Amino acid sequence: MSRLWLIVPAAGKGSRMGAQRPKQYLPLGERCVLELTLTRLHQAFPEAQLRLCLAEDDHWFDPTWVPFADWQRVAGGEQRADSVRQALASLEGQAADDDLVLVHDVARPCVDLNDLARLLEALVDDPVGALLAAPVADTMKRADATKRVAVTESRESLWHALTPQGFRFRLLVNALDEARRLGVTVTDEASAVEALGHAPRLIAGRRDNLKITHPEDLMLAEQILAAQRNSCASLSSPDKEAAS
Ligand code: C5P
Repeated sequence: MSRLWLIVPAAGKGSRMGAQRPKQYLPLGERCVLELTLTRLHQAFPEAQLRLCLAEDDHWFDPTWVPFADWQRVAGGEQRADSVRQALASLEGQAADDDLVLVHDVARPCVDLNDLARLLEALVDDPVGALLAAPVADTMKRADATKRVAVTESRESLWHALTPQGFRFRLLVNALDEARRLGVTVTDEASAVEALGHAPRLIAGRRDNLKITHPEDLMLAEQILAAQRNSCASLSSPDKEAAS
């Protein structure tokens, strides 16, 4: 298999949290969001090589939180896509065109290990790329300028785009460059690849792969992580093993 690169954009300010520090440095139990996210990615992909995008004036970061043996800090850009593009630029000359690059938001510490494994499995043979995603469950409303319902959209075939999203190195570089050339704002890698006429594959992932964005998300993430710990513990408990 080709080499696996991981890009974690973590150069955002997370202003929607309204906190005193960027959201990736808020505590979740005894560890911060960034450390938890990197730990989980490392559990799934211990051999991957990491590029971590951090703001140049970031004074919160502690390198002891990075569990990867092979990693490098990269300066973030103005928008998320700029941060990812700069991380890709740092791979020029090291990554082969068809190496796989997985991009995962630092603000998603609850991503499930099985989902990560299934995504990688799907990517190995896919000529375009793939992303974790979840089918939309709620009825979808489009608002007008006064925040009244303009129209109800059909939710059929609608998915929430999550991360990680994985693509071949050169395809992703070309896609982000083309988006920039056209002046298109892209909030995920898939939309840039789609704009080139490709159709990335949707891999159904768990709905609790929450992106910490608003203040109430922190408590939700804590509860999700606790539930995940409990379900791991109960799967490996002696009682369960004896009963099976
Ligand atoms: O703000 P939002 O949650 O949509 O950001 C998604 C991810 O992109 C976060 O992990 C954030 O740190 C990152 N980001 C970045 N560079 C920026 C803006 C956001 O790396 N300029």
